[in-house]
This record gives sequence, C-alpha cells and structure tokens, in this order.
Amino acid sequence: MRLEVINTGTELLLGSTLNTHLGFLGETLLPLGLRVGRQVTIPDGEIIRDAVLESVGRADIVIVTGGLGPTSDDITRELIAELLNLPLEENEGVMRVIRLILSRRNRELNEQTRRQAMVPRGATVLANAWGTAPGLYLPPHPVAAAGGELSPHLILLPGPPRELRPMVREVVLPLLGSICEGRTVPRGMRNFRIANLGESQVAATVEEPITSLGDVELGYCARAGEVIVRVLGTPEHLAAAETIVSAAFPENYYSAQEFPLEHTVVDLLTRMGQTVSTAESCTGGLVAHRLTNVPGASAVFPRGYVTYANDAKTDILGVPMELLANHGAVSAEVCAAMAEGCRAAADTDHALALTGIAGPGGGSDVKPVGTVFIGLASRGHGQPVVEHHIFNVERETFKQLASQIALDLLRRRLIRLI
Ligand code: ATP
Ligand code: MG
Repeated sequence: MRLEVINTGTELLLGSTLNTHLGFLGETLLPLGLRVGRQVTIPDGEIIRDAVLESVGRADIVIVTGGLGPTSDDITRELIAELLNLPLEENEGVMRVIRLILSRRNRELNEQTRRQAMVPRGATVLANAWGTAPGLYLPPHPVAAAGGELSPHLILLPGPPRELRPMVREVVLPLLGSICEGRTVPRGMRNFRIANLGESQVAATVEEPITSLGDVELGYCARAGEVIVRVLGTPEHLAAAETIVSAAFPENYYSAQEFPLEHTVVDLLTRMGQTVSTAESCTGGLVAHRLTNVPGASAVFPRGYVTYANDAKTDILGVPMELLANHGAVSAEVCAAMAEGCRAAADTDHALALTGIAGPGGGSDVKPVGTVFIGLASRGHGQPVVEHHIFNVERETFKQLASQIALDLLRRRLIRLI
C-alpha cells in the first residue's frame, strides 16, 4: 500500500510553523506496516486540487492535513469535492456537534462555521472530539480529470496538532487498519540509544550483525552526546537487534525507548530511592531542566543551583575563595568543590557540578573555549569524580553535550560502572 501525505498551509512554507504532522504520521502509522512514500507541502489555495490529482494512479492512500477550518483560506473540502465531482451536503450530525460546541463557547453560528458541516456525498465523517471541523474519509472514486482513474483512499484531517494527533490515534488508525488489512506487513521500530560514543564506531560494530538478521532496515541518528540506532523489522528481529546492541555496548547502551537519557537517570534514582542535586555554571540550569522534564522527578531531584559568578560558588556551595583564585573557576579543583558543596548543601545522595567556557569569548591557551569540567560527588564514594572535556562547538551544543556527559556520569555510577 503506497501512502502519501499532503500538508497544506502557507505558514508551513513561510517558515513560521514547523511541519510536525509529517513526523507524527510517519511514526504513528508505521506499526500498521504503512510507510510514507512521498510527501508534499503546499500553500493554502487551489493548488490542493493539483496535488491530489497528481497522486491519482500512484498512491493507494493520501492523507491531506489542514484547510478544513472556517476561514476563507480553508478550502480543502470544497476543492476535493470538486475534483471528485461530488456534491457537498450539509451533514445533520456534524451540525449538531458544531451547535453544541458553539453554545458551550457562547458563540453564534455563522455561514463560515456552517461550511464545516458540508460533507461530500459518499464521504465518511471522521469524528473530531477535539475541535469543530471533522475529518473526512473519501473512498476511491473515479476522477474525470485523470481519465476516470480511481482516486486513492483520501483522508482529510484538520490542521491543529492538538486535534490531528488524537484523531489519528483514535479514528484514523482503525480506519487504515481496515483499509490495509491483509495488504501490509506490520513492522515495529526501535530506537536503541547509546550514550557518548561516535556514530562511526557504533556503526562499525553493529552494522554487520544486525543486517545479517535478514529483513531489517537499519539507520543511525547522531545527536549531541549520543547515537540512536534505528531498526525496523518484525518483533523477533527487534529483540535480536537489541541483544546485539546491548552486548556490543554494555556500558553505553541505555534505552530502547523514545525517551532521552534523563528519563533513564530519573528512573534509576527512583528505583534505588536515591536523590541528586545540581550545581551548574556554564550549562545555566540545563541539567536541572532536563531532569525536571521527566514526570516524577520531584521524588529524586529536590534542588539545583545555578552558580554562575564566583561569589555564587562561594556563597551557595562554599567553594573556598583561594581555590577560585589559585585554579580559576574553570578547573578540576573548583568543579570537585562545587560537587561536594552542592551535595552537602542539598543533602542529596549525589550531586553533579559543571563549570566550563562555552565561548565564543573567555578562552585562553591553557583553557581554550569549549573546556568543561564535569564532576560527580556521591555519598560514601570519597573524592568526587571529575571529567575534563573540550567541546569545540557553538554555545548551545556545548551546553547540550556537557549536560549529556553529566547525566551519563550519574547513570554510570548508578549502575556501578564507576
Ligand atoms: P482551523 O480550524 O484551525 O482553521 P484547519 O484544518 O483549517 O484548522 P489550518 O488552518 O491549516 O487547519 O491550521 C490550523 C493550525 O494548525 C495553525 O496554527 C497551523 O499553524 C497548525 N498546523 C497546520 N498544519 C500543521 C503542520 N503540518 N504541522 C504543525 N502545525 C500545523
Ligand atoms: Mg484554518
């Protein structure tokens, strides 16, 4: 089954809105064995007709997003009805829902809103419990402009992500399931996450064993401080691939879930009943931010400090003035003192400390831009561990990389690698 996606919306092409529908659809439809084979983004307006016409004879299923709303640029419904030569008829059920929603919002029904209840004859209304404009499903229909060839299965969905996403999960997936039944092979996807190793090193190790499993697809995605090995295949192949990855990188492989490293760290801390605090200079709170992105973080992360200036390191963390004067704020000694001081001040089992030079200014020959010290103090572990890195990247990536190393340092301690 060949699936294509047409995303409509001038704002997507002006760059003011990022097209998130495509990625969402690609990911969500995969378990049905459906892959997006082609995608096009077009502005609002008449061009939608040409885009659908082009897909006739090539695609089995076309999903069109956007342009179902009440404003004058929302004309997807009308143009597709015209292309398929189907009259639009007011749908009583949709009208009832719209009236109900409007009365709840204390708003009047006008002609514009009424258009949303117009349904091409023979179309199925896809209920939208999250907004006023329903989606529409049009089964294959002869297209005069394509010499009478049948149209693909057409699924029209509203543009707002908060409406489209639940609709896809609850309404479109079952519909596609019945359209595709017996015609696709369901496949799964896993993203194996490997912390702090290079892409080529990972690929060189797992490429051959995973591809020799048989009918699998393998891809890599390098992110700041991690590599994601993406495998598509049957459940058996995915399980075998996981065994290969975890055996190849027992220390660095941390998850087959879609969640980033902070989830693994919070999960480990929770299971062990331990806590962590943070003392951040160059990352400005990014480690704390990442930890607090995880639901349930409050049980393991009571507090974090952003100690940017020297006197903040002294006042809050008790880093001795002499240490700062003798070694500089960006030094292994100060980093260790920050970690110890943080752990004591917050009274946690672990404390992470980061101090570095994000640049572009502030570097020297001895401590070039990109220098960072990352420390971990843990109860009952004696002296803090301090790692020294140099990340020659722009500011934001620098912060991301440093936070990744810090979280991984804690992860390794929690699984007793250090
Ligand atoms: P509405 O009733 O809101 O007019 P609609 O079906 O006409 O819905 P659009 O007008 O195309 O949809 O888009 C509505 C909102 O959804 C806009 O804020 C738009 O930026 C957002 N949106 C549309 N398409 C996408 C997309 N592909 N990715 C992310 N956001 C999108
Ligand atoms: Mg609109």
